[in-house]
Amino acid sequence: MNGASFFLGVNFIVAASFSAVFVVVATRSRSRKAALWIGGGFGVASLSAICELLVAYTSVPKPWALGAFATVLIGMVMLGVGIGKLHEKRISPWIPVTFVGASLVLSYFIYDLPRGTFIHTFLYQTPFAIVILTTAAAVLSLRKRSWIVRFLGALLFLTGMHFYAKAVLAVFAGSGATARDYVHTNYAIISQSLTAVLVVAVGLTLLATLTLEMMADQRNVSETDALSSLANRRGFDRMVQSILASWPDGPHAIIFCDLDHFKAINDTYGHHIGDLVIREFGQQLRGRSPTGAAAGRIGGEEFAVLLPNTGLDAAVQFAQTLRSATMRLANLPDTVNVTASFGVATFASAGELTEAYRKADMALYNAKNAGRNRVKIMQATS
Ligand code: GH3
Ligand code: MG
Ligand code: MG
Repeated sequence: MNGASFFLGVNFIVAASFSAVFVVVATRSRSRKAALWIGGGFGVASLSAICELLVAYTSVPKPWALGAFATVLIGMVMLGVGIGKLHEKRISPWIPVTFVGASLVLSYFIYDLPRGTFIHTFLYQTPFAIVILTTAAAVLSLRKRSWIVRFLGALLFLTGMHFYAKAVLAVFAGSGATARDYVHTNYAIISQSLTAVLVVAVGLTLLATLTLEMMADQRNVSETDALSSLANRRGFDRMVQSILASWPDGPHAIIFCDLDHFKAINDTYGHHIGDLVIREFGQQLRGRSPTGAAAGRIGGEEFAVLLPNTGLDAAVQFAQTLRSATMRLANLPDTVNVTASFGVATFASAGELTEAYRKADMALYNAKNAGRNRVKIMQATS
């Protein structure tokens, strides 16, 4: 076995392993279809290594040479479709189908062109370059570009361009007098080892993308309360921290809210009606909270809202609106009357958050003591 055959073997194992990993990831990922397309792409492309070896070691090389070309191209197209699906980009299926068909016809006709000429090497590499550069352009033109998306775009651009570098290299280093000789050339060693590096880099980047997505989903689940669909205590605290990091200086307002006589609702109408009240109240709170605010269910029937850049008057007005909405919750039996009490406090800077919580809590306590179904305030001292 020579060097290039060795790399062909390595590439087969690497691509096949990625294929298997993406299929496994698909069972856990929200982007199931994308992971399957990517896994399928690696799987199909891995077959090209086998075709290349059959070109060198069988008596009829042409079908295997065309097979090697087709499997790489189809694998790349599938990868492109998968990356598109990952970022919710839709492409009409006839575009890749027509493109692959036309490229296969092209590869059939250039097979007999003299190897080692620019016309042959450029025509051979261009379909690969087009697929990957188109995918790179699609990724780089995405509106939401995280660092990993930018990295993937740049990596795909590099991968696309490397096909042209290979075209030039094939002319100067020589890709073999015939297709059968390819595997015995130094060019094949360079080409296959470059491919190995890029396949691993692209595979790992895509795997990282899917892993980050799954971690974000997991965090969302762990920070969301299933009943009210609001943030839970942990999610609320994290939102508050991130809001205050963006706007350290206020005035900000914090509102604590507690449903009145909730135990009586449970006792009179049953726990399921109590749950329904929490769900309906959560919907009101979510729907009415202004953009940029944080709202959460921080206890059984206790809720909190942070209104950034909001003064006392606006915060009280918001609490009053919620209070009125609480008395008109939908989807409840007519006889169920729900009210809630609210405590409002304002604070001037992020450092006063704990004190603001204490004040809002005290204001809520006062609202309860004053007869419930009302809004009470505690003003900032500074
Ligand atoms: P107050 O007006 O003083 O707030 O009276 P309350 O009855 O609302 O106060 P308390 O805090 O004593 O009772 C809260 C009740 O909320 C107790 C608990 O059984 C109920 N609760 C907590 N979480 C849930 C839930 O998820 N679903 C239902 N149905 N009830 C819940
Ligand atoms: Mg309570
Ligand atoms: Mg209560």
